[in-house]
Amino acid sequence: MNGQPRRSAYEVALAQFDEATSQMSHLSPNTIKFMRVPKRELTVNFPVEMDDGRIEMYTGYRVHHSTVRGPTKGGIRYHPAVTLDETRALAMWMTWKCALMNLPYGGAKGGVIVDPRQLSERELRRLTRRYATEISIMMGPEGDIPAPDVGTNPQVMAWIMDTYSMHRGYSVPAVVTGKPIQIGGSQGRFEATGMGVMFMAREALKHLRLRVEGSTAVVQGFGNVGAIAARYMHMMGAKVVAVSDVNGGIYNPKGLDIPSLQTYVRETRTVMDFPGADKINNTELLELPCTVLIPAALEGQITEENAPKIRCKVLAEGANGPTTPDADKILMDNGTFIVPDILCNAGGVTVSYFEWVQSLQAFFWSEDDVKRQLERLMVDAFNSVLNESREKGLPTRMAAYTLAINRVAEALELRGVYP
Ligand code: GLU
Repeated sequence: MNGQPRRSAYEVALAQFDEATSQMSHLSPNTIKFMRVPKRELTVNFPVEMDDGRIEMYTGYRVHHSTVRGPTKGGIRYHPAVTLDETRALAMWMTWKCALMNLPYGGAKGGVIVDPRQLSERELRRLTRRYATEISIMMGPEGDIPAPDVGTNPQVMAWIMDTYSMHRGYSVPAVVTGKPIQIGGSQGRFEATGMGVMFMAREALKHLRLRVEGSTAVVQGFGNVGAIAARYMHMMGAKVVAVSDVNGGIYNPKGLDIPSLQTYVRETRTVMDFPGADKINNTELLELPCTVLIPAALEGQITEENAPKIRCKVLAEGANGPTTPDADKILMDNGTFIVPDILCNAGGVTVSYFEWVQSLQAFFWSEDDVKRQLERLMVDAFNSVLNESREKGLPTRMAAYTLAINRVAEALELRGVYP
């Protein structure tokens, strides 16, 4: 890292935006200026009563980056490393992701600085209800629709939906997505991000004339994205040779039995000490030779430091922002095919959109319909990015960015500046 401090996620998001817009000479400087900043940001400090009667103060955020293409959409993260800057970056990435997928949304993100694993279920419920109340001035089925992200899950979404509904006096299922199916969630939403990652890895391999069967995959992160992506890669005939979670990684060059690993993780809450696999640390895991590398944890994992040692053919970004711009250049020079995050992990928000539409209409789709529509939208988006990349001679990430930014710019110019 040459002694340079690591760039924050927001600095990375801005650098990516600047690089993309520097190639878009048709955009007016006014439009660029407008799109570069978040529309509104809320910081909340709020009390939560712990099980022993103590009061703890927590800090949370909700950032709306853009409302140009519609209501804002984006997850809520519970993690000790949450910051306002990280939330800004994630909100901006949501704007581009929704635009790339042609969803009628702008981008948002929320977060609370907390390690949810340290709280009891009742503490987590109280924290969620209070945070939801605090951000309710910025949330609503027509205005801003949260969803799960790192550290949150369908149960947390159920509490948010209930809190908002209690304040209204009637049930408002469309205020969040990623809710349990029993209260208006969508078939296929839980698996959507991981399934989308698999579709994108499959399309990338097809493009490189490689077969999924017999390919090897390495997955960093074994949460809602990583575990499900690993499962689908395994089902498609790929050999998943290594996976990791916050505690460390496991490796078996012959391939891990992913269904048994999932059962094991349900019982032990970690991948560590899974029988028949060797221990491996996070640094070693990312540098394993493999066909597909799927970072599915946090941002900033592939940097200029480890990029020269990355040995995958396809980098399928399940996480948001896993690769820094400096690392991008190194990977490109080494011929790595990158499926950028705003495309690769867009399955989650795409099925969130399906869920929101179903909740608003109180009319529900079959699992088959959800998965078919998801596959269609993602494969179309993959092909658009590939075409843009070929036509303009841009790396895939920049192709995805320019497509997305153009759509936001067009909407912005049509709507005009108010007043
Ligand atoms: N948190 C997910 C993401 O980063 C999903 C957001 C959503 O469904 O609104 O894309």
